[in-house]
Amino acid sequence: MRTFEAINKKKFPEPRPKLCKHCGSQFFPRTTFQSWCSSECGYEIAKKKKAKKDKEQKSKDRKELKEMKIETHSKEFKADFQRDVNRLARLIDSHFELTTCIDCDKPFGKQTDAAHFHSRSGNSSLRWNLHNLHSAASHCNQFSDKHKQGYEVGLSKRYGPEYSKYVIDELPLIYKRIEVSNKQIYEKLALVRSLIRNFNTFELQNPIHARNLFNILIGIYTNNFK
Ligand SMILES: [Zn+2]
Ligand SMILES: [Zn+2]
Repeated sequence: MRTFEAINKKKFPEPRPKLCKHCGSQFFPRTTFQSWCSSECGYEIAKKKKAKKDKEQKSKDRKELKEMKIETHSKEFKADFQRDVNRLARLIDSHFELTTCIDCDKPFGKQTDAAHFHSRSGNSSLRWNLHNLHSAASHCNQFSDKHKQGYEVGLSKRYGPEYSKYVIDELPLIYKRIEVSNKQIYEKLALVRSLIRNFNTFELQNPIHARNLFNILIGIYTNNFK
C-alpha cells in the first residue's frame, strides 16, 4: 500500500547521520557532499586539503628542477659515470692482484688506466661494460699503436681464448645498441659510487665473476660470460 507518507519518504528521505571528517562526531548533513559537522571543521578540512595540494605542487616543482638539473649537467654526469666505472674496473684488477698491463704484460708504471678494448668512439655501446675494461699502463693505452693487438693477446693469455672471443667478437653483437637516458645515468652514477664505497663487502671469486656481478648490479649489461 502506497501511503502518502511512503511516497513522501522516498522523495525526501530522512537524512542519515554521517561522521565528521575532521573531528569524528556525528552530524546530519544538509547536502550529500558535506563531510563536516560545523563551519570550523569545514575550515580545517579545507585547510588540510590546501596544504596537501601545496605539498604536491612543491614536490612536483622539486622533481622538475631535478630533471632540469640532470639535463643541463648530463655531459658531466656521463663523464663522471665513465670515470667511476673505469675506477671499478681497476679496483677489480687490483683486488685480484693483477699488477701487469693487459697490453704488454709489464708492470703498470706511473699511471694505470682502465683501457677499453672497443674504443668509446668505435663502439660506444660498450663504453661502460666492465668486460670491455681492463687495467693497462696509461702509456700503452694512450700512445701505443700496438694497443689493440697487445690487448687481444693479453686477454687470451690471462683468461683463455674463449673469454677473449667473448670480449672481442661477441660483446659487440650482443650490444649493438643500448639506450640509457640521462636520468638513468644520473641514478647509475650514484649506484656505481656506492658499489665502489662498499667494494670490500662483495664476495668476488675471480676478475671475470666480479665483472659479471658488477655489470648486472649496474644494470646496463646483463649478459654474463660463463
Ligand atoms: Zn567536526
Ligand atoms: Zn702495457
